[in-house]
Amino acid sequence: MSAPQRPMVELHGIHKSFGPLEVLRGVDLRVRAGEVVVVLGPSGSGKSTLLRCVNHLEKVNRGSVRIDGELIGYRRTGNRLRELKEREILRQRTHIGFVFQNFNLFPHLTALENVAEAPVSAQGRPRREVLELAAELLDRVGLADKADAYPRRLSGGQQQRVAIARALALRPKVLLFDEPTSALDPELVGEVLEVMKDLARAGTTMVVVTHEVGFAREVADTVVFLDGGVIVEQGPPDEVLDRPKHERTRAFLAKVL
Ligand code: ADP
Ligand code: MG
Repeated sequence: MSAPQRPMVELHGIHKSFGPLEVLRGVDLRVRAGEVVVVLGPSGSGKSTLLRCVNHLEKVNRGSVRIDGELIGYRRTGNRLRELKEREILRQRTHIGFVFQNFNLFPHLTALENVAEAPVSAQGRPRREVLELAAELLDRVGLADKADAYPRRLSGGQQQRVAIARALALRPKVLLFDEPTSALDPELVGEVLEVMKDLARAGTTMVVVTHEVGFAREVADTVVFLDGGVIVEQGPPDEVLDRPKHERTRAFLAKVL
């Protein structure tokens, strides 16, 4: 494998409950720089919660998250952890790109402005330089001709590609995708997966929650099967998808394949 060994994402003993509901029950995961991890699992198994814990949108009850070695959400003083101030958390989040199922573009901004917004407002980068970068990124996702279009004039697939360009504009260390094609009409899924494949080939570190098993087979370095808040099994796609060791994985795959 050409990817360097440096760990980019390290989840250690993640526990997360909502009231009495234990959603994550001790999740350990390492993602190396340049690695693509696809997370599969039934609805309600905790996939979205896990991604949200990575960028501290959810506070974990126990365990730790590190991105490129940096503890997320907390500062260690002696042997105590203190939560970081909101401003610090926002700074950390700019290193973690997040692509949602429902695009979440700003409706009152054009495609170009959507991509350029955060690098200017959250990172204070020069507007002219950022606009140039935004135009390049729109070109990279095949939307150079849509720079001035507002989201409502774009198809779901185009909106999601803008959302990917927007995530890239922050130059994140890792990109998280939460079912990025689940809200799309079937004929629009392919164009979004193609963009994601390009990113993977370019060495982007990615954690992708998806039911697209074909994408997992083709692109993933590692497939993780999450069920009941624990990683039931993980490994290379041909192992997990074609020779699953656990009955729960087999039962899940029988339903989605
Ligand atoms: P998945 O993405 O795998 O479908 P989720 O992480 O969204 O699963 O949800 C896992 C479980 O946690 C579900 O039972 C869901 O209802 C519950 N859950 C998620 N977020 C919250 C929340 N903010 N408050 C209460 N329960 C939640
Ligand atoms: Mg989910």
